[in-house]
Amino acid sequence: MSEDVAGKADKPDMSRERARAERRDVDMEHGEPLAGARAGSRPLKRVGRPLGDWTARPRILVTNDDGIDSLGLLALAQALAAVGDVEVVAPETNQSAVGHGKTMMRPLRVRERKLADGSTGWSVDGSPTDCVALATLGFFEQPFDLVASGINYGANLGDDVTYSGTVSAAMEAVIAGLPAFAISQEYVDRMDFELAGVAARLVARNILEHGLRRGELLSVNVPAVPAAECEGVEVTRLGHRVYQDELLRRVDPRGTPYYWIGGQPPTGLGTPGTDIYAVVNRRVSVTPIHLDLTGRRLLRELPNWTWTLHEPAGDPEDLAE
Ligand code: MN
Repeated sequence: MSEDVAGKADKPDMSRERARAERRDVDMEHGEPLAGARAGSRPLKRVGRPLGDWTARPRILVTNDDGIDSLGLLALAQALAAVGDVEVVAPETNQSAVGHGKTMMRPLRVRERKLADGSTGWSVDGSPTDCVALATLGFFEQPFDLVASGINYGANLGDDVTYSGTVSAAMEAVIAGLPAFAISQEYVDRMDFELAGVAARLVARNILEHGLRRGELLSVNVPAVPAAECEGVEVTRLGHRVYQDELLRRVDPRGTPYYWIGGQPPTGLGTPGTDIYAVVNRRVSVTPIHLDLTGRRLLRELPNWTWTLHEPAGDPEDLAE
């Protein structure tokens, strides 16, 4: 190996990667700039415009992860019927915490269903992501202007979004090029969706009017309080959950152990500015989320690590000394 090549191998030339990253800074395909605000990012297919300028009623796809029989789904469909023409496509069974799972190894079955108010919906024997993919890839002849997911039984705060089927359905819509939001409500024994319905309409109208850019979605969390006791809306960042999961080990009737991941519901760090803090303080939390999960600090830091694929010759023990 020549001196020249060896030198390059020691410290790989990352300039191309860096240039690509910097180009992305102004890449119109990506909504969120690497640093600072920048005008001119390309909006999603459906451009936001003043509500009065909508010549036809917006078409809204409503889905969830709790399943087609959820009263939260019905409440969302009913709330958004005041904003546009609603189609409901939801999982046949409860798919909570399936995340962004997509069915690839078997076909999907779709059934026409009557919701509790007599309206028509469609159930899919798959995940929330399957529902959105099916609905936006041609199950309906008309395209959609907005996708709404919820109203979930239980808040999706902080790290919850990485498990949430509710939020993942909105993410799938964003990947399909449609503006979307997820809406979840703090869990209590008797769920009342009046406040969440008002919040859903408000968020839907805002998105239709202002539009979202590529990669963006909103995650809305509603406190379980009567509408009159709500302290307003707060725009928030994701907080940090404190999970209290335990691994339960039990023995089945045949004597074989099985395991169940359980425990108390998660708490969270009560940091002002976060979604967790807002909901605890009786405010509706609206969190902007971006699908670009790139770690910004490491993007700058990693090129300074060692990336030599060829391990140095000699005794590996040398490294330990
Ligand atoms: Mn759920």
